[in-house]
Amino acid sequence: MSKKYDYVIVGAGIYGAVFAQQMKESGKSVLVLDARPHIAGNCYSENFQDTRINFHKYGTHIFHTNDQRTWDYVNRFTEFNHYRHTVLTTFQNRVYSMPINLGTINSFYGVQLVPSEVEAFLADKKTSISSPRNLEEKAISLIGRDLYEAFIRGYTLKQWQRDPKDLPASIITRLPVRNNYDASYFSDRYQGIPVDGYTPMFERMLEGVDIELGVDFFSDASYFRSRGRKLIYTGAVDRFFNHQHGNLTWRSVRFETEFLSLADYQGTSVMNYADEAIPWTRIHEPQHLHPERGLSNTPGTLLQKEFSYTNDKEPYYPVNSVDDKAMLAQYETMVQQERDVIFGGRLAEYKYYDMHQVVASALARVRRE
Ligand code: UDP
Repeated sequence: MSKKYDYVIVGAGIYGAVFAQQMKESGKSVLVLDARPHIAGNCYSENFQDTRINFHKYGTHIFHTNDQRTWDYVNRFTEFNHYRHTVLTTFQNRVYSMPINLGTINSFYGVQLVPSEVEAFLADKKTSISSPRNLEEKAISLIGRDLYEAFIRGYTLKQWQRDPKDLPASIITRLPVRNNYDASYFSDRYQGIPVDGYTPMFERMLEGVDIELGVDFFSDASYFRSRGRKLIYTGAVDRFFNHQHGNLTWRSVRFETEFLSLADYQGTSVMNYADEAIPWTRIHEPQHLHPERGLSNTPGTLLQKEFSYTNDKEPYYPVNSVDDKAMLAQYETMVQQERDVIFGGRLAEYKYYDMHQVVASALARVRRE
C-alpha cells in the first residue's frame, strides 16, 4: 500500500504549485500530478536550444500585480527583471500602439489631438449604449465603430473564433483606452519576468514535494483520489464531472516557432495582427522579454506565431458565452457538493484569471484551509 498523502494536487500550474508549497511548508505531505511531462503549467519556459533566449512555450506571460502580499510571495522564489510590457498592433501594414492611446488615435485618424480634445473627438464617433450586452456593443460605446473595426473586431474574431457580438463585454474591459501617450500594457505597481524564466521559479516552489509527471489523473481517478485525504483539482471543471451537463466552451492556442538568423525580427516582444485576413493573432519574439540579457544585437532570434482554435482537449481560455454561464452554474452546484475536493485556478473555476489572481486566490484558500 503506497503512502497516503494529506493532499493530492492535480496540476502543477500556479494554483497547484502555490497550494503545494504552502502545505509543504506547514508540514503536510503533498503529491502533485500533472499530465504533461513538465511542471509550471502554461507558464512553462525554457531556453531555446543552446541559445540564451528564454521562451514561454504556451505564450508570453508577464507577471503584474498591485498586491503586496502576492508580490512578496512570488519574490521568495525568484528575482524579477525590470521588463515593462508594451504591445504594438499591425493594421493594414501600419503599426500602432495597443491598448489604444493618444498615439493610436492620432495616427489612425491623421490628426494631432491633445489629451483634452480626445473625449469630444471620440464622442462624435461613439454610439451611446446604456447597458452594452456584448463585446461589440461595449467596444463601440467606448471607442466608436472605426477604431473597433480596425483594432478589435478582426483580432477578437480570430482570437475567440466567434463574432464579438457573441462574447461577453467583460473581455474588452481588460484593456484601457488612454487619452495620453502611455503605451504600457499594464499599470500595476509591480511587473516583471523571472530572471531565469518561470520554470526555475516553479522548481523552487516545489522543492521537496513529490511530483509525478506524465500522469493523467483521469486514467484512474479513484485510485489517485485514494492516495490523499483531500484532492486539489486544477483541471477543467466540466472534465472532472465527466461532462455531465455538457461541454463548456474553451479556446486553445497553438504556436508555430521559427528561428531566424537575424539579430531582431520585429523590435518588440509582442506584435498583434488586427487584420482578419492574417491568420495568426500575434507574433511573440521572446528575446525582448529579457532586455537585461542584451540579446537584440546578437545573431539569431526566435519567433512564436500564435493561432487560436476552439478545443476542449487542451483548454486555455474560458469563452464564457451565455450558454456557458448557465452550464457553469450547474457545475458549480456539483462543486459545492464535493466535500473533499478543492477546485482552483483558471480551468477549475472557469474564470479568465491572470497569474497574480491565481496566486492570490490560492494563498487565500490555503489560509482558510
Ligand atoms: N484585443 C483586441 N485587439 C488587440 C488586443 C486585444 O481586440 O490588439 C481584445 C481581444 O478581444 C482580447 C482582449 O482584448 O481577447 C484581451 O486581450 P489580452 O491581451 O488581455 O488577452 P491575453 O493576452 O490574455 O490573451
